Amino acid sequence: MLKLPPLSLYIHIPWCVQKCPYCDFNSHALKGDVPHQEYVKHLLADLDADLPLAGGRSLHSIFIGGGTPSLLSADAMQHLLDGVRARLPLEENAEVTMEANPGTVEAERFSGYQRAGINRISIGVQSFSAEKLARLGRIHGPQEAKRAAQLASGLGLRSFNLDLMHGLPDQSLEDALDDLHQAIALNPPHLSWYQLTIEPNTLFGSRPPALPDDDALWEIFERGHRLLSHAGYQQYETSAYAKPGYQCQHNLNYWRFGDYLGIGCGAHGKLTFRDGRIMRTVKTRHPRGYMQGNYLHQTNDVVAKERPFEFFMNRFRLLEPAPRADFIAYTGLTENAIRPQIEAAITQGYVIETDSHWQITEHGKLFLNSLLELFLDDE
Ligand code: SF4
Repeated sequence: MLKLPPLSLYIHIPWCVQKCPYCDFNSHALKGDVPHQEYVKHLLADLDADLPLAGGRSLHSIFIGGGTPSLLSADAMQHLLDGVRARLPLEENAEVTMEANPGTVEAERFSGYQRAGINRISIGVQSFSAEKLARLGRIHGPQEAKRAAQLASGLGLRSFNLDLMHGLPDQSLEDALDDLHQAIALNPPHLSWYQLTIEPNTLFGSRPPALPDDDALWEIFERGHRLLSHAGYQQYETSAYAKPGYQCQHNLNYWRFGDYLGIGCGAHGKLTFRDGRIMRTVKTRHPRGYMQGNYLHQTNDVVAKERPFEFFMNRFRLLEPAPRADFIAYTGLTENAIRPQIEAAITQGYVIETDSHWQITEHGKLFLNSLLELFLDDE
């Protein structure tokens, strides 16, 4: 019998003002108006269909991502969150995050979101350089990014996050550190600091810009990491930094192999059942099909031989020690199933094992892909 992990809810809003050239998320350039109430109606019907999967659990956290959720009106957000709360109880102190694009936020709307129940805002700043923002095809400038952060900070939310990217086209070490200095000056409790990667099926994928080379990237990471640590931020995942006590509870649940319902275009879900099944769900990707009421695209069972990779792929992204008991409780397997791989990971210096935990090492962090490959089912 499997132990049921905490249950979160992911809600996808699929529209953006325009498509950024590096973006491979399920986001669609808006043509016309956002169908605010119409889309919320479909989201709630999608949730209704998923309710039997919740297994009587309360929601541990909600994350409204995109796309650009801040294109949704405050009224629509209120209707959406009222609808969610009417269907599933929220745990006391549940974290409710919404992503916001600095080019689409106004003060009044922010307090409307807060009244609707949003208690954490994640702002897609990416850079404070006007030139870099233009290269990234973003619709906002540095001043709008600062204003959005100041607005979020002034609301007295439980937390807010700034998303920053590094390794940008023609970015020098000084440029990258300057972005970090400006972000730190805004005092966000959480900072996500991602490296730009070029994905296939994007504009950058077909016409790649000149990016800093590996040595330059390493130096940006080293110096940036030191700067963040010095400013009181602790790295707890590859790209996530937080002041103590401000880690993102929603993402932590993903990485600890928790469960989540996913509603909205292209949203993914993962559900555990007491009878031993683990199931993944994928919703219809395109707004057109989704808004015809065809919500579920596919489901598939995570079978026993796939579980070690799925578990560690999430778990070893986190820098905290991984309780050995969680592997057994949440995968339903015994440690015997992974003993040779764990021994290999220890021998190669990727992981340290204690009586109760596995701890990824600095070396393991650097060679995360090689570490995870050990757990791939290669039949
Ligand atoms: S705003 Fe975000 S989700 Fe939308 S296209 Fe740009 S990167 Fe993608």
